[in-house]
Amino acid sequence: MANTDIKRFSNFIGSWKTPKEGDFFENHNPADYNDVIGLFPMATLEDTKDAIASAHAALPAWSKTPAPARGAILDKASQILTSRIDEIATVLTREEGKTLAEAKGEVTRARDIFKYYGGEGWRYGGQVLPSSVNDELLYTRREPLGVVSIITPWNFPIAIPAWKIAPALIYGNTVIFKPAEDAPRTALMLVEALLEAGLPSGVINFLTGDGTLIGTEMASNPKVNGITFTGSHNTGTKVYQNAIKNMARVQLEMGGKNALVILKDADLELAVKLAITGGFGLTGQACTATSRIIVEEEVANAFVSALTTATKNLKIGNGLESGVNMGPLVNQDQLQTSQSYMTLGQKEGAKLLLGGEVDGAKGYFAQATIFDHVEPTMRIAQEEIFGPVISIIRANGLNDAIEKANTISFGLSASVVTNNLQHAFAFANQVDAGVVKINEPTTGLALNAPFGGFKGSSANTFKEQGQAAMDFYTRTKTIYVNHG
Ligand code: ADP
Repeated sequence: MANTDIKRFSNFIGSWKTPKEGDFFENHNPADYNDVIGLFPMATLEDTKDAIASAHAALPAWSKTPAPARGAILDKASQILTSRIDEIATVLTREEGKTLAEAKGEVTRARDIFKYYGGEGWRYGGQVLPSSVNDELLYTRREPLGVVSIITPWNFPIAIPAWKIAPALIYGNTVIFKPAEDAPRTALMLVEALLEAGLPSGVINFLTGDGTLIGTEMASNPKVNGITFTGSHNTGTKVYQNAIKNMARVQLEMGGKNALVILKDADLELAVKLAITGGFGLTGQACTATSRIIVEEEVANAFVSALTTATKNLKIGNGLESGVNMGPLVNQDQLQTSQSYMTLGQKEGAKLLLGGEVDGAKGYFAQATIFDHVEPTMRIAQEEIFGPVISIIRANGLNDAIEKANTISFGLSASVVTNNLQHAFAFANQVDAGVVKINEPTTGLALNAPFGGFKGSSANTFKEQGQAAMDFYTRTKTIYVNHG
């Protein structure tokens, strides 16, 4: 393909930086290989060091800027995003594949996150504590952590960057931001909004390219004080190992194998809706996606039959087309992974009820797939698939359902569908997950509430979102003032 007409994008390292000819990678539409969004720079190790140095140089002035003034810039960025929701959502669908409705929801969320943290500039602060002696003022001050590396995945290419960048900036940090290779354009549009809103040069630096090369430096450079990462467990582990060399602060979010538990007193119509939203929404490519459904035996057949019927009605296609309910997977690797688990489930002896095939002719399309009679120990019930594949596990009673929900190495999100208050609270208290939902899908988060998983889903260090983010992005100083 002749690339001469395709737009070339730049990195932002204190200023727009275009690499020399040839050092670019192509970003295309996962629903249509012929639709090329653009060419993005392959940042070098030197670029990465420069970006870190740029963030480091910008830190003194930005950290001393009054928090309400920092907030005003975030607020302005939120307004700019509001004026571009449709434009950004269209790009998001073109490069990542989710439906336009899902993309609009995501851009709207990013807009709201900037508005929320803009307001935090007027609110956050330390504590005044009672002193044990007379004539002493004892208080704490929240100071910026410093230079923060932000490494994000492709599945929420604007919302995840937003929920990391907005708190990083409001609490006075400077940033090096590396989005995923599969969705850099949407991420860049967020950076463009911030620069237009008046963010000073060097406060955010943007790099695209090879994750291993750039990410290793972003995690291990001694000028970096904190690394926040969302992605796979394997990569997250490497980030932690690199960060520990400098004792840099680490926050990792690393996937899930989330269960929707359906008890025998559940509203089955609601249960089906939640299963479809959680399992097939975003083509199953959310860390909080429903990949296991644990259903009480008494209602299992009725539920399975209703779910199968509803799933057959889903329209799979290009997310830009109206009426499409489920877009493609993001890339060839994801397609192969889904395909391999569809084959594996059958080999393991689960009953394939629906789907089981992928179609990579025009784009990375996969069928909505349901396995029934899955054993909790099967690999399809244990490993993160990150595709539209649901495993149904049958349970005998509440305790058995909770035990089955907990027998995995992940612990991100879990839902129960029930009309019994006692069962709902028993589930909420006993399930081993950082996010618990009652009669809601495993997906979907409030931007002002703490978010983070247990067990293998996170580094178990700091939560994200809401005011909980302050703990990661600030350091606390304790001050004793003797005024006697
Ligand atoms: P996925 O398998 O879904 O692509 P990854 O965990 O590989 O998830 O990617 C998440 C993010 O981590 C991406 O931005 C990617 O470029 C980046 N990345 C990849 N390898 C490394 C690494 N060794 N260190 C830091 N970041 C990395």
